[in-house]
Amino acid sequence: MKKIVIGNWKMNPASVKEAEALLKNVAKNQKDYKNIDVVICVPNIYLSNLAKIKSKIILGAQDVFYEESGAYTGEVSAKMLTNFKVKYCIVGHSERRAMGETNETCNKKIIALLKVGITPILCVGEKTRDESHEYLNIVKKQIESCLVGINKNLLSKIIIAYEPVWAIGINATRAVETSECQEMMLYIKKIIANISNPKIAHSIRVIYGGSVNVQNSLDLITNGNTDGFLVGRDSLNAMKFTKIIQSGVK
Ligand code: PEP
Repeated sequence: MKKIVIGNWKMNPASVKEAEALLKNVAKNQKDYKNIDVVICVPNIYLSNLAKIKSKIILGAQDVFYEESGAYTGEVSAKMLTNFKVKYCIVGHSERRAMGETNETCNKKIIALLKVGITPILCVGEKTRDESHEYLNIVKKQIESCLVGINKNLLSKIIIAYEPVWAIGINATRAVETSECQEMMLYIKKIIANISNPKIAHSIRVIYGGSVNVQNSLDLITNGNTDGFLVGRDSLNAMKFTKIIQSGVK
């Protein structure tokens, strides 16, 4: 399956000029990005400018609202995102879940995105790892609840990003071990197979996110059974992000 590397800029950078420069710098090496999809999820306010830059980098959003239009101050609909070449959108990032996002709202957002042809990147992951392996049930519950009622044939259009909260951002304790990554990727495919069938499970991209960096990306993508990465911090550094992308190029 074609690998995918997705950057999540979060609430960065501070100006549209810096955003344009960062995107252009990542695109500088795009001739090397063969047989890999590269996506950057940017702040919505930069989309209009960034959509004008011609490159192989695909634009993504970091969140969406599930209603089509109406009195929802501050929200942006899936249809609105399509005006700016947005092809992917993160749903249920742990930072949004911490602000009140639920599996139920994630489900509605996924349905709204699929309706307009945007690929949802559903983030799941436990806050901590416990010895009795309760974290496996947490991930299972998140996936099952977020995908409830979605037509089986549409499931392969969704990306699942396994992002254990303990591995994300500046408070991360560590990234996953390659063997842990391998195990979770298989486990997630098995959950998908149970709610659909093995063929669909095989076709869905399951990726890893959490402290992916230049040091661990090659081993994780070669031996971790992952279809790609969701990268936070190191997507803000064009050189590091480029190296992470290159580790996924066959
Ligand atoms: C994230 O927040 O989705 C993430 C993966 O962050 P980082 O790469 O900085 O750990």
